Amino acid sequence: MQAANWQEPLTSLKGIGPQKYKRFQNMGVKVIADLITHYPLRYEDRSERRYLAGTTDGDKGLFQALVLSVNSSRIKGSQTMIKIQVDDGTHQATLVFMNVPFIAQQFSRGKTYWIYGSVQKKGRSISLFHPEFRDLEQYPLGFGIVPIYPLTDGLSQGEVSKAIAASRPLMAEGTETLPSICFSSGEKPMMNLAQALQMIHFPKSLDALKAARYRIIYEEFFHLQMALMLIKEKVGHLPKRQVYQSVQEEEVAKLFPFILTDAQNHVIRSIYDDMDRETCMNRLLQGDVGSGKTAVAMAAAYKCAISGYQVAILAPTEILAKQHAINFEKILGQYFEIVLLTGSSLAKDKKNLRESIENGKSQIIIGTHALIQEAVTFKSLKLVVTDEQHRFGVGQRQLAADKGGEPLDVLVMSATPIPRTLSLILYGDVEMSIIDQSPVGRKPIETFAVKTNKTGKMIAFIKERLALGEQAYIVAPLIETSENLDLQSVEALFESLTPHFEDHGLEVLHGQLKPKEKDAVMTRFKSGETKVIIATTVIEVGVDVGNATIMVIMHAERFGLAQLHQLRGRVGRSDLQSYCFLVSDSNGEIAKKRIECMVSTNDGFEIANKDLEIRGPGELIGLRQHGVPEFKMADLVKHSRILATAQADAKALIKLGGESMLTSDYGIWLSRHLTL
Ligand code: ADP
Ligand code: MG
Repeated sequence: MQAANWQEPLTSLKGIGPQKYKRFQNMGVKVIADLITHYPLRYEDRSERRYLAGTTDGDKGLFQALVLSVNSSRIKGSQTMIKIQVDDGTHQATLVFMNVPFIAQQFSRGKTYWIYGSVQKKGRSISLFHPEFRDLEQYPLGFGIVPIYPLTDGLSQGEVSKAIAASRPLMAEGTETLPSICFSSGEKPMMNLAQALQMIHFPKSLDALKAARYRIIYEEFFHLQMALMLIKEKVGHLPKRQVYQSVQEEEVAKLFPFILTDAQNHVIRSIYDDMDRETCMNRLLQGDVGSGKTAVAMAAAYKCAISGYQVAILAPTEILAKQHAINFEKILGQYFEIVLLTGSSLAKDKKNLRESIENGKSQIIIGTHALIQEAVTFKSLKLVVTDEQHRFGVGQRQLAADKGGEPLDVLVMSATPIPRTLSLILYGDVEMSIIDQSPVGRKPIETFAVKTNKTGKMIAFIKERLALGEQAYIVAPLIETSENLDLQSVEALFESLTPHFEDHGLEVLHGQLKPKEKDAVMTRFKSGETKVIIATTVIEVGVDVGNATIMVIMHAERFGLAQLHQLRGRVGRSDLQSYCFLVSDSNGEIAKKRIECMVSTNDGFEIANKDLEIRGPGELIGLRQHGVPEFKMADLVKHSRILATAQADAKALIKLGGESMLTSDYGIWLSRHLTL
C-alpha cells in the first residue's frame, strides 16, 4: 500500500496537533498510512429504523422523531438538565442530557432528527439518556453502519472518527498493490484498494463492507504468500555446485552409541536425498523436545564434512553451542576438526580460529548465530544447520546464502510444534520433516500442579531423588527480587533453598553471569558435581543432561504453554523416570487451563493445538514469534479459505513469471517485516 503522502506524519492532517498526535502514537499510529490501516474493531448497524412503540426497556436502536419541545432547567446549583420531547409517530419520548447546556441549541422545535440510543421504559413513559442524534435534512441516510475503532487513553471514538474522516481524500489516492491476476481469479470481482479502504471506514451497506474486508484480508495473505514463495524461489531452489559423497545407512548407524529410531532414520534419508539433489536443500525439521534432533544434525554434518566441505551449526545460546561442541566432538571428533566459536574463544584464539576456518582446516564450526554472522569467512561452507530456530525467516536463509557466497543447503531444526494452519501459511510448500517418535525406553514425564504452601512435600520428594543420584532444575522468572513484582527470584530461592540442598552443591545460572561462569556451572552440573541448579529461562532450549529428572517451575502462571513445554523438555531425556512440578497460586483462567494441559499431556503437538484453543482464534497465534508480521485484519483461523485462494493466486503468478514487476517492492516489504 503506497501513495507518497501516506508516509507523512499524522500532524499533516487538519485537526491533529502535537497533543493528539502523541495519543495516536501510543496506539502505534504515526503516519497517515497507519491511520488508514487503523481498522475498526467492529461495526454497529445503525441503518435499520425502529419505532418507539415496539421497544422494550433496554433496547438500543435508531429512531426518527419530530421535536415537540426543548426545555433547559437548572438543578442543584450549577447542574443543568435538558429535556427534549419528541414523537416518532408511534409514541412520545423524552431525550435527557445532563450538564451539556449547548446541546439545547442543536435541536429546533418542529424539525425531525435521527436518534440513536438505549430506551428506558417506565410504565407508559419512554426516555433516552444522552442519545446520539443527527439532523434528518443534513443526513438523510442517518447513521448507517458505524465503525467502532480501537482506542487508547485520552482518545475518544469521535476524535478517531474525525481523524479518519480527514484522511478520507487520501484513501482515495491509494494506488493498487495487487496484480491483475488477483482480480480475475475469484467468483466475484474484487474491489480495488481505494474503494475497499473507503468502504471499511465509511461503509454504505453490510454487503459492501463484507466485500471490502475480503479484499483487505486477501491482500494481507497474498503479500505474505508472495514474499515467502519468492524467497523460496530465490534461495531455496537455486542450483548448487556442491556434490556430496554418498553415505550409507549402516555408516551412519555406526557413528552413534545408540540405535537410531525409525523416525530419525527416515529424516536422515530425506535430508541426504535433498543434499544429493542439484538444487539447494531448504528443509524444516520439527521434532518434539527430546526426540533426538542433534543426532540428525550430526548425520547431516557427517555427510557434508566427509565430502570435504565445511558445515556450520548455529545455536541460539552460548550454553547450547558449548554443549553441541562437546557432543559433536564425542561422535564426530575422531573424523573431523571441530571448532567452537564463542565470544570468549574468539577473543582468545581469534587469529588461529579465523585462520583455520578460512583455510578450511576446521570442518565443523559450531557457534551462536551472531558470531557466525559477524566474525568469520569460510573456505567452503556448504551446509548450515540451525538448531532451535523457531523462525524460518528470510534473514536466516539470506544469511546462509551470503556466508557461502554460493548457494547453501539449509536445515532448520525446531522443537516448537507449529499448528497445521500456521505451518501452511508460514512455509507454504517448504519441505518439512517431523520426528514423531522418541527414543525407545523414554517414559512420559509425570507432571504435578503444586500450590506454594504445599512445596514442603515436593522438596522432600526432590531430596529422595537426589539421594538416588539424580539431578534437578528449579526455574524462576526473575534473577533478582524486584520491589514492584511479588515474585520468587533466583536469588531469593537460592537463599531459601540453601538449607535444604547445600549438601547437593546448589548453584545458580542466569543471563547475567559471564559466559565463562555459565560454562563452569553447566560443566559441574553435567559431571554431577552440582546436583541442583536454580535458573532463569536461560536453560529453556536445548540443554541436555540425561541424569536430570526433576524440573520445578516457580510461578508457572508467568510462562506460556510453549515455554512450559520447552522447560519441561529439559528432563525426561534418558530412560530414567522424570518429574515436573508447576508451582503456582494463580487463579487466572488461562493459567489454570495451561497448567491443566501440561498435567494431562506430554505431546508437543497436542499442546500447540491447545495453546491455539486457549488463546482463541481471534488472537494471532504467536506469529511474531515465528518471524511473521501480524496481520491487521486477517485471521488465520477464521479466514483460512481466503488464505487458500491467495496462496493459489500467488503460486499462479509466480508460475507466469509475473513477479518480476513486483520484486523490488517486495524487497522493501520484506526488509520491513521479516527481518530477524
Ligand atoms: P532434541 O531433539 O530435544 O534436541 P537431543 O538431540 O538433545 O534432543 O536428544 C536427547 C537425548 O536423547 C540426547 O542425550 C541424545 O543423546 C539421546 N538420543 C538421541 N537419539 C537417541 C536414540 N535413538 N536412542 C537413545 N538415545 C537417543
Ligand atoms: Mg536440541
